[in-house]
Amino acid sequence: MSHLRKISGMLTGLLIACSAYAGKLSIVIDDFGYRPTQENQVLQMPPAISVAVLPNAPHAREMATKAHQRGHEVLIHLPMAPISKQPLEKDTLTPDMPSSEIERIIREAVARVPYAVGLNNHMGSAMTSSLPGMQKVMQVLNHYNFYFLDSMTIGNSQSTRAAQGTSVKILKRRVFLDDTQNEADIRKQFIRAVRLAQRDGSAIAIGHPHPTTVKVLQQMLPTLPADIILVRPSQLLNEPQIISNKPLPPESKPTRARNPFRGVQICPVKVLPVPAIHALGVVADSITDSAGVRYIKTNFSGLTFTLGNTP
Ligand SMILES: [Zn+2]
Repeated sequence: MSHLRKISGMLTGLLIACSAYAGKLSIVIDDFGYRPTQENQVLQMPPAISVAVLPNAPHAREMATKAHQRGHEVLIHLPMAPISKQPLEKDTLTPDMPSSEIERIIREAVARVPYAVGLNNHMGSAMTSSLPGMQKVMQVLNHYNFYFLDSMTIGNSQSTRAAQGTSVKILKRRVFLDDTQNEADIRKQFIRAVRLAQRDGSAIAIGHPHPTTVKVLQQMLPTLPADIILVRPSQLLNEPQIISNKPLPPESKPTRARNPFRGVQICPVKVLPVPAIHALGVVADSITDSAGVRYIKTNFSGLTFTLGNTP
């Protein structure tokens, strides 16, 4: 019996060690605050799915609070001016606004979206491509402890340059899940985000609370490959943001394996030793509290797991 427990513990440990090398996928659903029916469905999904709330939406406070209570990371979805003419949210930031106005809008947004730990831009092709405009935003954000997730609604966004000299950390969206509301397209985009995370180590995808997006996420999330872990954007703040020029890996076979014994098989073989304690720090939410992990924490802390041949 104790042998069996040891083997089970070691296999769980291997899975955890694998997790240190797993692709980290972050999914943010923005435009929250207008469609409680779909948004409540998003909040039923795993807590690693994060949500971004429009501060002036009618259900902003309610949805931010609910999301937080259910363990989801909350962002402020800050409206910023687009280049094209479209209906705008109240208090949309423009490049020519004085700093005092930007400061007021952000302060009010913070008050309306409780529990937020980051911001991302709603629209914003005109605002985020303006260096002086974004410098004013970053100067204000420097007084808060928020990260800025650039939705990348334009290729030449200036957020990274504008944040230089401030303490604001910048993340960038890699995939939009639902530019169209066609299920097959959304599925394709989801798979693309998975492959980017596998190739580059991490990827952030943004989607919206449309019924089709909700449906595809409900279908796809339980079939994530075992070498992908869902993380919150804040868990990527200290990750190198790599964009490799290698081709994308082939599409993984969908799996329902969250079972440690099956998960080990598809874990990429790495040659570096992984201190168990470090590996435990990055383990997926789904297994953090499992009996196996508790066993490993108790019995194997301080050990080093080596995968493949040590150099
Ligand atoms: Zn938006």
